[in-house]
Amino acid sequence: MLTLDTIREAPKALLHDHLDGGLRPATVIDLAREYGYRDLPTEDVDELSAWFRRGADRKSLELYLETFQHTYGVMQHYDAIVRVAAECAEDLAADGVVYAEVRYAPELSVEQGLTLDEVVRANLEGFRIGAQRAAATGHPIVIRALVTAMRQAARSKEIAELAVRWRDEGVVGFDIAGPEAGYRPTRHLDAFEHIRHENFHITIHAGESFGLPSIWEALQICGAERLGHGVRIVDDITVREDGSVHLGRLAAFVRDSRIPLELCPTSNVHTGGAASIAEHPIDLLRRLRFRVTVNTDNRLMSGVSVSSEFKALDEAFGIGLGEMEWMTINGLKSAFVPFDERLRLINEVVKPGYARLRARDAAVAVNA
Ligand SMILES: [Zn+2]
Repeated sequence: MLTLDTIREAPKALLHDHLDGGLRPATVIDLAREYGYRDLPTEDVDELSAWFRRGADRKSLELYLETFQHTYGVMQHYDAIVRVAAECAEDLAADGVVYAEVRYAPELSVEQGLTLDEVVRANLEGFRIGAQRAAATGHPIVIRALVTAMRQAARSKEIAELAVRWRDEGVVGFDIAGPEAGYRPTRHLDAFEHIRHENFHITIHAGESFGLPSIWEALQICGAERLGHGVRIVDDITVREDGSVHLGRLAAFVRDSRIPLELCPTSNVHTGGAASIAEHPIDLLRRLRFRVTVNTDNRLMSGVSVSSEFKALDEAFGIGLGEMEWMTINGLKSAFVPFDERLRLINEVVKPGYARLRARDAAVAVNA
């Protein structure tokens, strides 16, 4: 079984992580004091961490999302967003993440007068500062932003234009998030059309709490290149009693087209999408060789890191270093940065990193 230290040392990629889902609890408290936010349930760091985790594990996406009011609540000022984004880059790098796309909905940070563009600028400045600090400690990270529109709101076209406006400064794609039931992605067609018209990139939260129609619309109507979660694709897969497997048309399309699934195992357990990690469809999907990637979704609310997710998968399914490397390369192949940057990370960072760890494991085995 892999140790947490080995997993942390192994290079990892992260495609699905929310900026407002990854704050350090102490930072939430600091920022609340600094900016006069008075609605926190407690100002004790341990109690607040526990409160977020309790709030997350309520088996409902809608209830899970309620806790976010206190994170974006303290992200209403330029410097607050810079700090949150810088710490995000540092925390991911310290966990051994070498490439990350972190998403945020700028429309959540305009309550105190920031403009949408200022929110994105602060986000990117924070990433730059955090990546510099991380590199100085020997943990280089490439970190990029995805700009998210809220699916229950009506600003998605404006947000899509915002994403495109910042594409040369570190924004690599556009996403929609929020409650899935009742808010179909087709409500935002003009936003997706704009992104496609500009040859930019789309990932859509789909197939998290809602089933196949949401996945089908995201791919075939909206033009999503990746699926945020997409875990309900298992509803189109039949495992027969003799162990043979039948893929429906949509599942076959997703696998054949190598559509990346941004799977977030623990988050799905918390929102009720899976009963436990051991019963999570990621095991079936990886064995069927869908393009599986492993993600955190919300590190604060779910109390996870990329490494802890891999540790949980290794404990449940014995994935080992080989499968970890495969999932990491899946993530980089699916990244929205340019092709040459993806190749560089795969060939110069990921493959040598895993080769080193395997050689060390082999040396340990010989010496034992
Ligand atoms: Zn998400």
